[in-house]
This record gives sequence, C-alpha cells and structure tokens, in this order.
Amino acid sequence: MTMEHGEDCCVKVAVHVRPLIGDEKLQGCKDCVSVVSGKPQVQIGSHSFTFDHVYGSSGTPSAAMFEECVAPLVDGLFQGYNATVLAYGQTGSGKTYTMGTACKEGSHIGIIPRAMATLFDKIDKLKNQVEFQLRVSFIEILKEEVRDLLDPATAAVGKLENGNGHATKLSVPGKPPVQIREASNGVITLAGSTEVHVTTQKEMTACLEQGSLSRATGSTNMNNQSSRSHAIFTITLEQMRKADPIMTLDGMPIEEMNEDYLCAKLHLVDLAGSERAKRTGSDGLRFKEGVHINRGLLALGNVISALGDEKKRKEGAHVPYRDSKLTRLLQDSLGGNSKTVMIACISPADINAEETLNTLKYANRAR
Ligand code: ADP
Ligand code: MG
Repeated sequence: MTMEHGEDCCVKVAVHVRPLIGDEKLQGCKDCVSVVSGKPQVQIGSHSFTFDHVYGSSGTPSAAMFEECVAPLVDGLFQGYNATVLAYGQTGSGKTYTMGTACKEGSHIGIIPRAMATLFDKIDKLKNQVEFQLRVSFIEILKEEVRDLLDPATAAVGKLENGNGHATKLSVPGKPPVQIREASNGVITLAGSTEVHVTTQKEMTACLEQGSLSRATGSTNMNNQSSRSHAIFTITLEQMRKADPIMTLDGMPIEEMNEDYLCAKLHLVDLAGSERAKRTGSDGLRFKEGVHINRGLLALGNVISALGDEKKRKEGAHVPYRDSKLTRLLQDSLGGNSKTVMIACISPADINAEETLNTLKYANRAR
C-alpha cells in the first residue's frame, strides 16, 4: 500500500489528562502533570512532550477531542477509508471513560456514542442518494484469544466459570474459536464472531451495552482481567450508490464517491492497561517482551512506530503486524490509506508519575 501524502499517513496522537479523582484526593495525591496553555504540550517533572493535541481537564475536553480527532475519521468512512481509534494508558487512567465503552458514565458522553450520533446524522442526510448498511461487532482479546462479546453464550461462560475462580478458557464450549482471516485483497475478517446488522442508533447502542456488560461479567469472575484485555467495537459501513451523480446538500457533486460500492470500518479500541509494559533495550526503539508484557501492546507499539518512520516506510520496511492478534486484526485499518488516532490517557496524580511517564514515552514513539 502506498501513502498519499505525509499529513494523512501517520498516526495522530492526542493526550487526555483526567482530573484527580476522589480516591487520589483522599490519599492526598498532588497533581504532577501540567498542560502548557495554548500548546499541545504536556510536562511532567523535567520532561516535556509535544503531541498533535493535548486535552486537560478544563472546558469540555471530550467534545473538542471528538471534533478534532475522531469526527474526521467518521467522515473518512463515507469515502471508504478504514479507521482506528485507540485508547492507551494504565488501568484507571480514563480509557473506558474517554471511549465511552461502558456507556453508564452519567452525563459524560464518550467517543463511541458521539461517533454513533455523527454517523447516523450523516446517513440521514445522504440516505436519499445512497443506500447504507451498518454492521457492528464487539470482541475482546485476552491472552491472545478472541472472545465474542455479542454472543449471548459468552456471558453465560463467564458466569459458569465464576465458581472455581480459575477461569482460563474463554471460548464457548462446542463453538469454534473466533479466527482472524486475511483475504487475498488484504481485507481482514473475523470468522465466527457475531455481526449485528443495525439500522438505528438505538440498536447500535444496545450492542455496545450488551458487549460492555458481557465484558464486565467476565472480568469480575476473572480477577479483573478487563484491565488486561483489549475491547474492540467495530462499525462497518457499506454504501451503495442509488443514482448518479451524488449531490451534497448544497447541490455539489461528491467527487470522491466515484465508485458504486464502498465498504469501510471504524475500530474503536479500549486497550488493555499499559502498566506492565516496561520499556527495555538501550536503543529505545523496540520493546522487548518480558514475562508479563501484553503482547498486543508490545506489537502495537512496534507497528505504529514502523508506520511513523517515513524513511523506513519508503524503503518498504517490515511492519510487524503478525506479532499479535491485536495488530493482526487491525492490520487493514492501521497504516496504508487508513486513519489512526491514538489517545494516550493519563492520571495527573504524583503516585502514578512513573506510569504516566511511560505512557507519554509510548505515545511519543508513535509520532
Ligand atoms: P481505565 O478504563 O483506563 O481503567 P476508567 O475510564 O475506568 O479508566 O477511569 C477510572 C476512573 O476515573 C473512573 O472512576 C472514571 O469515572 C474516572 N475518570 C476517568 N476519566 C475522567 C475524566 N476525564 N473526568 C472525570 N473522571 C474521570
Ligand atoms: Mg477500562
């Protein structure tokens, strides 16, 4: 795959600094992270990092974050571009809050619900000229095993294994495991996972809620493994042109839509907690795998770093997608013509300073 222009090809990186939360305040934690006003820059101790965007806890960061980082990806879907949004950070840093994976966050609206609203808005405006079909899937990758969060039987397995407290098997008995397949055209599909056809935002939200619940059910039974799993909510948009030419609302023909059929997907990823991913190696360029390092996070760091290195990419350097299930699954939606945003979530508390610094270094390497 070739890159069109530098601007679009690399991964955009944003940082989301959450406020001190109740527990941290009770412990008397101090805020050790500062956001440089007017600049996408964040400081911790003597370290300073610049990203594409930095969102502090003032104002309405989630609305701005959505508009600047994610809305362009939703737009891209309508032009046939795959996209991925990744929330990275230690457990408790705000990944689920930022993504809105868990739905129930009071008045806060995370990225996934906002993406849904924008998507359905656009569909509504274009539906006279284009026929749309939407599908969603919701899976979890834990210990290199893919678990279908929309399969009603998955939740049942979680409950079943509650008793002994040593659940290791996540697949549903008698059901073949979900497999990641690559077609000859490079399109990645998940064989054996539930794909739900949806026509309304309400139906899509129901899938998000059902999957989140299934993830939560599994996790309490398994020693809070939700912090060790990657949750991937995927929206697939298919478009069929009804008549020719397609006009925008102001009567302008849409030039990008010169094909009769387009299919694109948006992956919304709530990554596993990064707290075990330690950086080693003197060159600082490659993560070495240690005993408990999450394979997906390790591989993702290496893939994104390889994609971001323009020189290497031009030389056709190897991008190690095959090193984990996570990167394998996201292969056709990271790099190439697809758009990727990584949101590094951090806690401002001094007790988390070391992990926060690790997160900022990981995110910095993605640029
Ligand atoms: P993670 O998914 O990374 O483990 P969570 O999203 O569960 O972290 O967040 C941990 C806690 O911090 C939750 O209680 C959540 O409500 C709170 N929190 C996270 N981000 C924010 C934020 N931006 N503003 C207020 N509270 C937040
Ligand atoms: Mg979480």
